[in-house]
Amino acid sequence: MIPRFKPAIGAAELGAAAAVRGAGVADFECEFARTFGARHAIAFSYGRTALWALFKALGVDGAEVVLPAYTCVVVAHAVVLSGNTCRFVDVSLRDYGMDLDELERAITPRTRAVVPTHVFGYPVDVDRVQAIVHAAERRFGTRILVVQDCAHSFGASFRGKPVATAGDAALFGLGISKLITSIFGGMLTIADDELASRVRRFRDDHVRAATAAKAMQRRAYLVAAAAAFSPAAYGAVRWIESETPLLDRMSKAYHLDGLVHFPPDHLDAMTDVEARVGLVQLARYGSIVEERRAHAAYYDRALTGIVGWDLPPIVDGATYSHYVMRVPNRRDLRRALLRRGIELGELIQYSVPHMPPYDRDTPPGAWPNSRFASEHTINVPVYSGLTAAECARVAGALLEAAARRPADAAHVAFGR
Ligand SMILES: *Cc1c(COP(=O)(O)O)cnc(C)c1O
Repeated sequence: MIPRFKPAIGAAELGAAAAVRGAGVADFECEFARTFGARHAIAFSYGRTALWALFKALGVDGAEVVLPAYTCVVVAHAVVLSGNTCRFVDVSLRDYGMDLDELERAITPRTRAVVPTHVFGYPVDVDRVQAIVHAAERRFGTRILVVQDCAHSFGASFRGKPVATAGDAALFGLGISKLITSIFGGMLTIADDELASRVRRFRDDHVRAATAAKAMQRRAYLVAAAAAFSPAAYGAVRWIESETPLLDRMSKAYHLDGLVHFPPDHLDAMTDVEARVGLVQLARYGSIVEERRAHAAYYDRALTGIVGWDLPPIVDGATYSHYVMRVPNRRDLRRALLRRGIELGELIQYSVPHMPPYDRDTPPGAWPNSRFASEHTINVPVYSGLTAAECARVAGALLEAAARRPADAAHVAFGR
């Protein structure tokens, strides 16, 4: 079975997790900042906690935060739980990034932050975001934070400039499905010394110290994840996930239950075990992303020309956390590929303002591109460690499925 994603966890990560002494969270923060060209990096239990803490620490409260409609719902949760209101902006169907013409119109005198997501690792035009935000600041006489959501993009760059350093802060998710992982965990990078010390102080005042029991839990989770993604086990794991509710708590909790809440341990500190795993992953970041780019370039060549399919942009500086296509009938395609032992992913399969509880005031027809993307996107395995033969197998199966089901009326409606 070729899984839809696979963490790049090997002996080095397992060894780092097993160690009882060594580097800790502060070392991980330093190395993270160095790797991504930031002055400061501050670690949290989750990426969502990092964003929440940024707003709390800086007194962003009772304000509007502008974010794309097509992003991870936990970003919206962080906005709401920090006492703010989400103002959603539709996305472009070219690269799924925030529509910047709409961003311009969405900023009001109450806007205190803008959170662009470099979704799937495709970089947003950060120069234009900055220009729009600065113009709005002058117009309204306000200060608007720009927080880059780099959970999919990490070191991605736009025209050679790293997107993570193009605003006031950047947010990173380090869970098991991200480009690099610290088992769980999130990171905030900040350029300004004074802002960083306020956030760090807030973090130190509000997080609970990691316990030995927590460290053991994290080790166990990493071992379980490594085992679950092994070729022998993955078929069974997938069957359990799709046919039984046993893994719902892991794979669906906090996403699709219609409630705005964080996991109970969101205020726990990152453990040193996680930091040590994160340090190993940081050292491998460059090669992990290079592999993903090579896989994306291969698919781009192999799949070009299928009528009715929209392939993702191939742009310099993208990290390809996901190779995302739009296809006319993704359920059929998913099933066809599963029969060939290949799993496709459906991330992100929702549009935030179309899901409860964010859909209360959503007018019909609003955020159409976000909704469209949520219904038609499918992603193809591009993880580090995928072999050339496996890539060829995936492309071959996709081409065969496309040939068996040529363009029909649905495809025409789809071509926009
Ligand atoms: C994963 C993710 C985050 C943060 O996730 P946590 O699970 O809270 O660490 C933020 N934004 C996007 C787009 C993500 O995919």
